[in-house]
Parts: sequence; C-alpha cells; structure tokens
Amino acid sequence: MTTMYYEKDANLDALTGKKVAIIGYGNQGRSHAANLADSGVDVIVGARSGKSWDEAAAAGHTVMSVADAAAAADAVMILLPDEFQKDIYDAEIAPGMTTGKALFFAHGFNIVFKQIVPPADVDVIMIAPKGPGFLVRETYLEGKGVPALIAVEQDATGNALEIGKAYGKALGATRGGLLTTTFREETETDLFGEQAVLCGGASELIIAGFDTLVKAGYQPEIAYFECLHELKLITDLIQNHGISGMWTFVSNTAEYGGLSRRKRLITDATRAEMTKILGEIQSGEFADEWLKENAAGRPNFNRMEEEERELKIEKVGRELRKMMSWLQK
Ligand code: NDP
Ligand code: MG
Repeated sequence: MTTMYYEKDANLDALTGKKVAIIGYGNQGRSHAANLADSGVDVIVGARSGKSWDEAAAAGHTVMSVADAAAAADAVMILLPDEFQKDIYDAEIAPGMTTGKALFFAHGFNIVFKQIVPPADVDVIMIAPKGPGFLVRETYLEGKGVPALIAVEQDATGNALEIGKAYGKALGATRGGLLTTTFREETETDLFGEQAVLCGGASELIIAGFDTLVKAGYQPEIAYFECLHELKLITDLIQNHGISGMWTFVSNTAEYGGLSRRKRLITDATRAEMTKILGEIQSGEFADEWLKENAAGRPNFNRMEEEERELKIEKVGRELRKMMSWLQK
C-alpha cells in the first residue's frame, strides 16, 4: 500500500533558506514557480531567452540562464520536455549540481532509462502532479491541490524525503495528498497507461467504432457523436463515481449491452498484447526505440501524426467542432 502524506505530514522548514530553481517555464514550470513563490519559497526560473523567459519575468520571477539558475539554487526542478532533458542536463545543469543539492523531476523517464546520471552526492527526488499544469495552479488558488506522486531515488543528504515533502506542500499537493512511489513504478505505469489505455487504447477504440458505423452506411456525423463526442460524458461519470457508479447513470439497456459485449472487444488476445507492451516498457525496448526515433529526426512520429490528421473521423470532427461554440479552443 502506498503511504499518503497530507498537510500535517510535511514541513516547509526543509526549504527555509534554500533557493529553488524551476528549469523550464511550460505547462508544469509556470505553475510550480507561481505556487512555490506564493508559498514563500525563494524561487528562480531557468530559461533560454525567448517566450518562456519573457513570460517568467513578466510574472515577477527572477529569471536566469539554465546554467546560472542550476548553479545558484540548492534545489533544481527539471520541467523541460522529457526528450530534451538529457542534452540540457549534461551541458547546462550538471556543472551546477554540487554536493548536497537536490535534483527534482516530475517524471522518471530520464533517470529510469539512465539518460541522466546525477552525481552520487545529490538528492534525487520526484514530485509528479497527477494533473495538467493549469490545474496545479487553479486548484492552488482555490486553496485546494492536485495530488502528486513522491519518490526518492537517491538520498545523499539523509533529508531527501523531508525536502521532497516540503516541495510538495509548497506546490499545494499535500492538500490533495502525496502518494509514495518509486521512479521505476511511476515511469513504467505512466508509459503503460498512456500506451495501452489512455492515449493509444482509447483513441483506437474510438476510431474502430467510428469506422465500423461508417462502413455500414451510417452518416459520419452521427458516428462521430456516438463514438467520440459522448465518450467524455462516460469518462466523467467513471472518474466521479467509479465504473459501477457509471452504470447507474446510463440506461439499463446500455448497461446490459455494455456488460454482455465488452469482453468480445477486449479479448484474451488484447490482454496478452497489453502484457507484451508492458514488457517492452520494462525491458527498456520502448525507451530505446523512442530515443532513436528522436535522434533520427522523428520520421515515423511525423508520418503517424500526418496520417492521423488525414483520417475521416478527424476531417468530420474538424467541421463539427466549428459548430460547437462551447468547446474549448
Ligand atoms: P513543456 O513542453 O510545457 O515545457 C516546455 C518548456 O521547456 C518551455 O518553457 C521551453 O522554453 C522549455 N525548453 C525547451 N527546450 C529548452 C532549452 N533548450 N533550454 C531551455 N528551455 C527549454 O513541458 P511540460 O510542462 O509538459 O513537462 C515538463 C515535465 O513535467 C516533463 O518531465 C513531463 O513528463 C512532466 N509532467 C508533465 C505533465 C503535464 O501536464 N504536461 C504532468 C506531469 C508531469 P521555450 O519557451 O524557450 O521553448
Ligand atoms: Mg501519465
């Protein structure tokens, strides 16, 4: 069972007198910087010149180059895109990681797959919010907090967990709860979830359902609403009430049809393939493939993105969504 830490379990004192550098000012970075600063933490932002630098400065933060911020800070949180972290770390952050400092991540990929190898005399800690950056900020301002995962990969100072909990508290995460995990568990389950269920599994299920209806002669617009648009209503019900709870909100016909048919879709073969996909993640095969894909200039990634845009469901969707003025742009 995971241990949960709440407000009373974390003490901001672990960060008193320490400078925290937020490296990267994107989805997560801008929310971490704002929440920590509002919690009274001494925050600096590390950025390259351009949009992020200007935005961070306009928000009132002290902005420095990535190298200067890493050198000046006692704790360094890396909030750069995962695929660029290794190069930026090696060139600009590593020189600043001197004895006794803390290196933070919001995702374990680069540590687990040994892209970044921090020195043995620094703490290596993860605080991974289980929600997008804007929600991390929005809930903080409402006096609430997005729950986050906490993990300690390396405890050089003997104080890594306390520093991690303090960061989580300053971020607002202890209001929702800090769940203990390891870098390996977070990384492998995160990759599996996005591949098998959330991004890969769900999108292919939508496309297959849409194609089946259109092939049978139904209007694409009707198929779009049934197979794509309405999915959110169901996932909202599941998130709020669990799967059993969801069934109580749909018709008895929907419940009977769903329960009696779903195992014909997600079959033993599908489950066996899920295990195989998990194996590729655990062995590092997926990470290797993705790193090579990036090194080669993303030929397959770009081709698959282009093919996706050209799908019939995407063309129909682009037109239909223009009529749905209430959707977020
Ligand atoms: P973003 O893609 O939003 O971060 C982009 C930031 O990185 C920008 O500020 C960009 O600056 C900066 N950047 C890119 N290249 C460089 C460079 N060479 N030098 C300096 N700055 C650079 O990242 P996310 O916030 O989505 O992700 C950050 C981390 O958080 C990742 O580890 C991710 O896995 C994790 N995470 C993300 C979540 C999310 O909701 N997105 C949820 C939980 C964890 P510029 O404007 O100059 O390009
Ligand atoms: Mg995830």
